[in-house]
Amino acid sequence: MSKIFHEPNEKFMEIAIKWGRKNIKKMDGGPFGACIIKNNKVIAASKNNVLKSNATAHAEVLAIQKASKKLNTYSLKDCIIYSTTEPCPMCFSAIHWAGIEQIVFGTNINDVAKIGFNEMMISNKKLRSLAKINTTITKGFLYSKCKKLLDDWNAVSNHCVY
Ligand SMILES: [Zn+2]
Repeated sequence: MSKIFHEPNEKFMEIAIKWGRKNIKKMDGGPFGACIIKNNKVIAASKNNVLKSNATAHAEVLAIQKASKKLNTYSLKDCIIYSTTEPCPMCFSAIHWAGIEQIVFGTNINDVAKIGFNEMMISNKKLRSLAKINTTITKGFLYSKCKKLLDDWNAVSNHCVY
């Protein structure tokens, strides 16, 4: 299996954060954003839309849907996903099925559980190990800015966890 060696770039995480920050005003979902890139170009980005849509409307799933529509294929091989928070097991699985071989994330599942989300406490590294796959995982990338996104959203009085 070919391995992608992509040096994480702050500008792509900034885009994911920008999308996540939309929910501080809109409250369409949790404070989460994702961005998918290929050949160092942004293919798609999304925020979480669970509160206005449905339980599967996580930023990563929506970004995968947008990216596949744009590239006109289910396969996102050679793409890299940036997520402001560690992908949940549903999203980790979607990332696997899309063939994305590298995940870059900021905050982790513990940070999200602390602000009240009903997180499944299984880390991406644990999932990778259980699944016996080779996904490249970069954690804690631009951590402070991703954490500030969680904190700012948590400070909004009408925020809703699920
Ligand atoms: Zn998810």
